[in-house]
Amino acid sequence: MAHRVIIIGAGITGLSAAHRLQELQDFPAQIDLKILEASERPGGTIETVERDGFLVEKGPDSFLSSKPWLLNLCKRLKIIDRVVQTNSDNRRSFVVYQGALHPLPEGFLMMAPTRLRPFITSSLFSWAGKLRMGLDLVLPRAEPSDDESVASFVRRRLGREALERVVQPLIGGIYTGDPENLSLRATMPRFLEMEEKHGSVIRAMWREQRQAAYRAKSRGSADSGARYSMMVSFDRGMQTIVDELVRILPDQTLQLGRKATGIRRLGTEWQVTTSAGAVHTADDVMIALPSYKAANLVKDTDPELARRLSGLSYASSAIVNFAYDRSDIPHALDGFGFVVPEIEGRNIIAGSFSSIKFPNRAPDGKVLLRAFVGGAMQAHLYDMDDEEIEHLASQELLDLMGIQADPLWSIVTRWPLSMPQYLVGHMQRTEQIQTHVSRHTGLTLMGNAYAGVGLPDCVRSGEDAAERVISRLQPQEAVLQA
Ligand SMILES: Cc1cc2nc3c(=O)[nH]c(=O)nc-3n(C[C@H](O)[C@H](O)[C@H](O)COP(=O)(O)OP(=O)(O)OC[C@H]3O[C@@H](n4cnc5c(N)ncnc54)[C@H](O)[C@@H]3O)c2cc1C
Repeated sequence: MAHRVIIIGAGITGLSAAHRLQELQDFPAQIDLKILEASERPGGTIETVERDGFLVEKGPDSFLSSKPWLLNLCKRLKIIDRVVQTNSDNRRSFVVYQGALHPLPEGFLMMAPTRLRPFITSSLFSWAGKLRMGLDLVLPRAEPSDDESVASFVRRRLGREALERVVQPLIGGIYTGDPENLSLRATMPRFLEMEEKHGSVIRAMWREQRQAAYRAKSRGSADSGARYSMMVSFDRGMQTIVDELVRILPDQTLQLGRKATGIRRLGTEWQVTTSAGAVHTADDVMIALPSYKAANLVKDTDPELARRLSGLSYASSAIVNFAYDRSDIPHALDGFGFVVPEIEGRNIIAGSFSSIKFPNRAPDGKVLLRAFVGGAMQAHLYDMDDEEIEHLASQELLDLMGIQADPLWSIVTRWPLSMPQYLVGHMQRTEQIQTHVSRHTGLTLMGNAYAGVGLPDCVRSGEDAAERVISRLQPQEAVLQA
């Protein structure tokens, strides 16, 4: 008899897990798979829509090429030719400083400068601030600790200005989070390693850059492998990956409008109930939901696991897409967007020049911009109604970019409790959750709550989970070579 697997949630995580199961098995002969999805469309947070010739991302608009899992998936799906790079001109971002957009100095990577001249000549930092960042080169390493907040690390190594003017808004743009609470070990372990290994973030970055340049030189022209910009997307938007993963599923696998309401173990099998009152049975249940929703499902099976899952935090945010006539925007749009430090006291977290960043996002003579509102640091703004959010965001664009005209149209999209917040101690919390889960044969948790919020991390989480299921069935090495 085929091994019955139910995946709950058809976001990128659930769909990637389903695809990996298909890749590893003689499908559907050996695995009988169902995906239960509460909403009427797959994709979860990913949603691309078309309007008047614009291509609008309501959720994520790109993914990191340096984390290989999503790009590798595209290669295996044979859609790698649909991956698009950011525009090669103006690959830079701005930071709001004293009410205006200032370019982030070239070579400034997340928290520290890698190039001297652009850093020294930048108007974004005071001389005292620049010198304080330089102290990173001589300050001793900290004693090892279990965990530390991002803010504490940055203040300690690079000073307050680096934190307030750059790291906080950049982190705000990625995690919609507050660096005073976010765990360094869980969100940016690379920087911790830099301190541990090299005693200095700046020195470690210089070294990495020299090594990268050396590798590029030694590969020389013999290397014909594709090079990608840091952020990439798809020609027809992020929906492309969802559509492709759904297209190749066997008929009847994806069941839309089926909200799972609970799971329980009966003998050797699992029963999953849905809001329509149906009961599905399976040998394996793979939950690809935000952790607080997973908690709801497991609360009768393992109340302690449910309690721990509910303990992980999430932030809500809204994205406002604006369509404009190019002639109504006085700004040169010579970058990909901007981030807004909290100390600037504004009502948006960040803005993207979407149709500058990627091709085919707006018709000729038009521009697509998007603004981010809310997040952990401005949670009260998320509570306003859509009209107020749209008004606030357009006022901020008016102020920061000099836009006087009304947009042609706008779309407000809300993402309630959708961005996990990896707070200090996160790794310990997820390890404890994992210990609980491992007591239940056939139960798997996956998704952005545990080990990475980006789309590539979600793909990895789904694929790893699928491999664990298959390796329990067929522990031979050979299966996992597929
Ligand atoms: C506003 C925003 C912007 C982002 N931008 C980027 C970006 O540019 N780049 C990037 O790499 N990452 C970005 N992220 C992060 C990334 O989009 C997410 O981490 C990722 O999409 C999460 O995928 P998932 O499948 O784990 O969860 P989800 O996308 O949340 O999918 C879960 C699915 O489960 C379904 N579901 C819920 N409850 C039930 C139930 N009881 N039964 C059945 N189904 C259920 C939901 O309808 C949903 O389809 C962004 C996140 C947000 C919120």
